Amino acid sequence: MKSSKFGLNTICTHVGETPDEQFKGATSPIYLSTSYEFMDVDIKRYPRYFNTPNQEYLSKKIAALEHTEAAMIFGSGMAAVSTTLLAFLKSGDHVVVQNDIYGGTRNLVNSHFKHYNIEFTFTNGLEISDFESCIKSNTKLIYIETPSNPLLKLVDLDAIGKLSKAYNVLTVIDNTFATPVNQNPVDYGIDIVIHSATKYFGGHSDISAGAVAASQTHIDMIWDIAKDLGGSLSDFTVWMLERSLKTLGLRVEAQQKNAKKLAKFLQKHHAVKKVNYPGLKSHPNYALAKQQMRGFGAMLSFDLNQDYNAKDFLNALELIKPTMSLAGIESTMILPSETSHALLSPKERLEQGIGDNLIRFSVGIENYDDIINDIENALAKLSVNALVHEK
Ligand SMILES: *Cc1c(COP(=O)(O)O)cnc(C)c1O
Repeated sequence: MKSSKFGLNTICTHVGETPDEQFKGATSPIYLSTSYEFMDVDIKRYPRYFNTPNQEYLSKKIAALEHTEAAMIFGSGMAAVSTTLLAFLKSGDHVVVQNDIYGGTRNLVNSHFKHYNIEFTFTNGLEISDFESCIKSNTKLIYIETPSNPLLKLVDLDAIGKLSKAYNVLTVIDNTFATPVNQNPVDYGIDIVIHSATKYFGGHSDISAGAVAASQTHIDMIWDIAKDLGGSLSDFTVWMLERSLKTLGLRVEAQQKNAKKLAKFLQKHHAVKKVNYPGLKSHPNYALAKQQMRGFGAMLSFDLNQDYNAKDFLNALELIKPTMSLAGIESTMILPSETSHALLSPKERLEQGIGDNLIRFSVGIENYDDIINDIENALAKLSVNALVHEK
């Protein structure tokens, strides 16, 4: 099915269905076989060759969503990240990496690249000059993530696209937080788009997967090493991912509608010191967000003021779950200081603006009033505790 003429929700619903020639069912059949005919066939299919029927077709949906020619699906977001980076970086190459990226990606670069003799520089900030000043004669790639975790800072996609063309380097973005509902980096000259499909693509906190979308040439280069690194996934998961992607547009729209209202609510709340959300006029990147994003996303973070203890607050919640990970249809909150950024020293965390009272909020699809009530009730419990304590 030609995808370019369709809107996002139609792509989500229809593009890249695995054909059911035999029974003409309304949904894709699952092909769980790990063994396919090899004689007289155009494609020798095998799960780790990333070309089983379900993988082949679902890749078309992801490519259509990200405005690229091709895509691949992996067993996790990190399998997509590591395979992509190792496809393009060789011994002696240098990579410029955005300062506040996903913890797993940061660890991959920090702990392992030296063993492959791959040089790297983390930027000091997120301005274009911060990226440009890191570029060296052997720089092959710039790696970005916008909005970032957990402070929801933005990188200017158009400027990064232009910078990479000027220096003839490849650009890779982790587009997990924005999703193609809000942002298509390829339209700004970014070359390769990565997703942790464990997050919004999956959306129900029940599958682990990753995805890469790019030109056919770049996907071919990634495939060449991917089949040997082996980060493939079960076709059952591929099918679950297809089922999930059908509602990507609806879910993200509902989640970010709640998030925008919640960001405004929290900003006015006496218990809250600061809210980080690109859809707030007070956000330093608000203008940039309006320029490059269609919506502002459903992730936000906020600092409780010092009268409250963030851990106690999370324990007092009843509806919102204090669970790891993000982007499910259920609202969840975590403390970055105890999870994603636990390996940093308190000083490093403070330098990045990640205090012990910072809470990252992955907003779900629940009724807005119920989310508000849960937050108010939890804060009220803490206030009562504080009073009892004083007596
Ligand atoms: C979770 C996440 C990843 C890693 O994905 P996994 O599926 O856990 O391997 C990468 N980038 C971002 C922004 C994430 O949130």
